[in-house]
Amino acid sequence: MRKLNFGAGPSVLPESILRQAQDELLSYENKGFSIMEISHRSAIFEELLNNAKKDALELYGFDSNDWEVIFTQGGASLNFTMVAMNFSQDNKPCEYINTDVWTKKAYKEAQILGLNSVYVASSEEDNFSYIPKAEFSDNASYAYICSNNTIQGTQYHEYPDSKAPLIIDASSDFFSRKIDFKNAGFVFGGLQKNAGISGLACCFIRKDMIELSRSKNIPSMLKYSVYVDNNSMFNTPPTFALYIFAKQMQWLKDMGGLDNINKKNIQKAELLYNTIENIPFYTLHAKKEDRSLMNVSFKTPTSELDKLFVSESEKAGMIGLKGHKLLGGIRASIYNAQNFKNVETLAEFIKDFANKHA
Ligand code: PMP
Repeated sequence: MRKLNFGAGPSVLPESILRQAQDELLSYENKGFSIMEISHRSAIFEELLNNAKKDALELYGFDSNDWEVIFTQGGASLNFTMVAMNFSQDNKPCEYINTDVWTKKAYKEAQILGLNSVYVASSEEDNFSYIPKAEFSDNASYAYICSNNTIQGTQYHEYPDSKAPLIIDASSDFFSRKIDFKNAGFVFGGLQKNAGISGLACCFIRKDMIELSRSKNIPSMLKYSVYVDNNSMFNTPPTFALYIFAKQMQWLKDMGGLDNINKKNIQKAELLYNTIENIPFYTLHAKKEDRSLMNVSFKTPTSELDKLFVSESEKAGMIGLKGHKLLGGIRASIYNAQNFKNVETLAEFIKDFANKHA
């Protein structure tokens, strides 16, 4: 019996994908070998990779004349370093909006590299409970944001305008909605929340950003243009992670694409937020206008009750509800693969817990 998994990542995968992977583990498409057992240079693997890339571009509506898709190892985090290395330009500040740990980590990498890096806005004074408004300078190297803040449960519902290329860490709301990417030049995310398994990041890179990367003298495995020029196979890529990613893209297409998945995500989030908001026993962390459709962070009146909530939820067959250690409390992650029925079960549990302990 599978648990109801509300973990923030790695997180629940569509059961149909797990079953397909199980079925195909010994024999991929009845060919007599596992996808993990063949060369990444084989026509079979290249076809899988190229189809996944095509699906990824199509799902978001990125024009393949202007954009490339690449896959980097080292999770989303290595991109914190790579972004700064590849896209910083002399005498142009690297500008960041500080919304939480994930932007702090990215900013820190630019600092370590000795780059002129600045926060143009921050919501730290209110424990990152909202998305601060900010203006980027016209001459910035790039304008960096984190689309969805996994820990605090805040999310951009519209991306900011910028003259400089917008860099978007979309790790925790990847492939969850269609959105106007404004002046995006680079969009990346780790796959372990909405698009597969951990270790690998998918990155959309605009053609002019590839040229910027190409102009730089940086080590090969850290240079985005090397990934583009080698179809993300400069070295042996994690083929199983790419296989699961390909399945995820197909699953999203079968679900009717990102607009449809977004509708489902809104329904789940509304149910959860309405339930929590209507019970004074609970406090939601994020300000209403910036609430995340992916991660719902909230608290009971005491940390003891938070702990009890988590242990009782585990007894009721749910996992992953403990809040991140930085924020405490409770966090329910309701990514693409989470179904509405499971969220209904959680909503009932939330009501029952308050009735017992208020
Ligand atoms: N960005 C965001 C928004 C995240 O939530 C995470 C992981 N939780 C990361 C980056 C880092 O991802 P990884 O562990 O794959 O490096």
